[in-house]
Amino acid sequence: MKKIVLLMALFLMVACQAEEISDPIVSQVYEEDAYTDSDLDEYKIDAVLDDEKRVIDVNQVITYTNRENVDLDKLYFHLYPNAFSKEAQPSITGNTKGVENFGAIEVSSIIIDGQVVDFNKGPTLTSIYVPFDFKMGQTYKIEMAYQVKVSDTSERFGYDGGIYNLGNWYPIISVYDEDGWNLDPYLSIGDPFYSDMANYDIHISVPSDFIVAASGYTIETLQTDLLTYHFKGDRMRDFAMVISDQFEIIKESVNETDVYLYYPKSLKKHKWLDDALAYGVDSIRLFEEVIGDYPYKTYSVVLTNFPSGMEYPGLVFISKGYLLNSQASLRNVIVHETVHQWFYNIIGDDEIDEGWIDEGLTTYFTAYYEKELIDEDTYNTTMERYQSRVDAYGFDDIVVAKTSYEFDNWNDYGVSAYSKSALVYHELYKAYGDDKVREFAKYLYENYAYKILKEEDLRQSIESVFGQEAGKILDTWWY
Ligand SMILES: [Zn+2]
Repeated sequence: MKKIVLLMALFLMVACQAEEISDPIVSQVYEEDAYTDSDLDEYKIDAVLDDEKRVIDVNQVITYTNRENVDLDKLYFHLYPNAFSKEAQPSITGNTKGVENFGAIEVSSIIIDGQVVDFNKGPTLTSIYVPFDFKMGQTYKIEMAYQVKVSDTSERFGYDGGIYNLGNWYPIISVYDEDGWNLDPYLSIGDPFYSDMANYDIHISVPSDFIVAASGYTIETLQTDLLTYHFKGDRMRDFAMVISDQFEIIKESVNETDVYLYYPKSLKKHKWLDDALAYGVDSIRLFEEVIGDYPYKTYSVVLTNFPSGMEYPGLVFISKGYLLNSQASLRNVIVHETVHQWFYNIIGDDEIDEGWIDEGLTTYFTAYYEKELIDEDTYNTTMERYQSRVDAYGFDDIVVAKTSYEFDNWNDYGVSAYSKSALVYHELYKAYGDDKVREFAKYLYENYAYKILKEEDLRQSIESVFGQEAGKILDTWWY
C-alpha cells in the first residue's frame, strides 16, 4: 500500500475520470520507502538549473561497488550531452539549424574515497574514464562536480520552446559485462543505451514557477528563492526529467501507481488529453496483468517538444505533435512507450547490440493492447500492415538479429527491429494460442526482471514455453 501525503490542501477537480491538480507546482509527495534492492549502486545528485544560462550545476555522489569477478583498473562514464556539442555536429538528427547553445558536460572534479583523481577522455566524444584500483567486491564513494550545458534541441536532451528534455543528462557508469566495457558512442540509429539497474536520490532546484516531471517519485519540495524537488527512484536503469514553467497536470491512479499526464498549458483545451492519460492508465493495468508488476509509485507521460516517443524508467517523452495527428497514432505511441517499461527497463537488454529484442517485444505487445482493449480486427490489421512492410522490403533480405551498427538507416531498423521482430510473436500466437503468449510474457518477467535478456535467453524462453519446435520459427524469422 502507498500512503499519499498531500503537502498542502489540493483542490481536486474531477474532469472525466482524471483528477486535475490545481496547484501542480507543489503537486503531491509520497512517503519515502527504503530501496527495494539496497545492494545496487546509488546515484545521489544535487542539481541547480539556471534557466537564463541554460546550464545545470551538479554535485553527484555515486556509491559504486565493483560487482564484476575481476579487479578493475578504471571506470568509464558516458557523457551523452556531449553528443549535442559543436564538435559532434552535424547532430544525430541534422536538426540543429539555428542552434546557438550546444550541449556538453564539463566535469570539474572527481574525488574517490576522499582522494582527488585525474580523469581522461575515453574512446568516444561521449565518454571519460578514471584510472583507479577498483577491487572486486569493494564499495567506493565517487564524488563528481560538473556543469551540464543544455543545447537548443528538441531531442532526448535539449531545450526548446520553454521545455527542458533531460534524458541521458548526467554521467552514468558504462556497463562492464562478459565482453568487457561497453563504450559505444551515441549512435544515430536506435536507442543507443545499455545500463545497469541503480537507485536514485535526486535534488533539482528550479525557478519557483517551474514544474519537474521525473522518473522517480517526489518525497518533498522545498521553497526558498528556488523550488527544490527531492525525488527517489528505486531500481531503475536511468533517471530522466522534463522541466518547464508551462506544464499542467492531470492524474489518475491504477493499482498501486499514480499515472500523470504533463502537457503544455497551450494545449489545455485539447479534446484528447483525458484519452492520452487513459492510454497510459490502461496500459499499466493491462501489462501488469499480462507481463508482471509495474514496480513504481508513479508513471509520467509527458507531452513535450520531441519528434516521436522515447522511453525512460517511470517517464516517457511523447511528441505533443501527436495531438495534431490521429487519435490512433497518439494511442499507439503512448502504449508503445509504456510497454517499454517492461521491455528495456524492468527486463533490460543491450540496446546497441540487441535493440531488436526490446523493440520487437514492445511492438508486439503494443498490438496486443489492441487485441485486448479494442478488438481482434484492429490487432489483425496491425499485423497485416507489419507483414506487408516486411514483404515489400523482402522477407529474406531482413535480418532481425543484428546490432545497431549494422542497420543502413531508420527504415531498415524499423522494418527489422520493430516489424519483423514483432511478427515472430504473432506467428507464435497463431500457432500456439493466447494462453501460451501470456505464459511466455510471465516467464520472461519471472526469469529476467531486473536482469539483462540476451538473444540466447530469449530463444531458450521461447523454446521452454512453446516447445522445441518453436525454435524453427526463430530460425526462419531472425536471421
Ligand atoms: Zn520503442
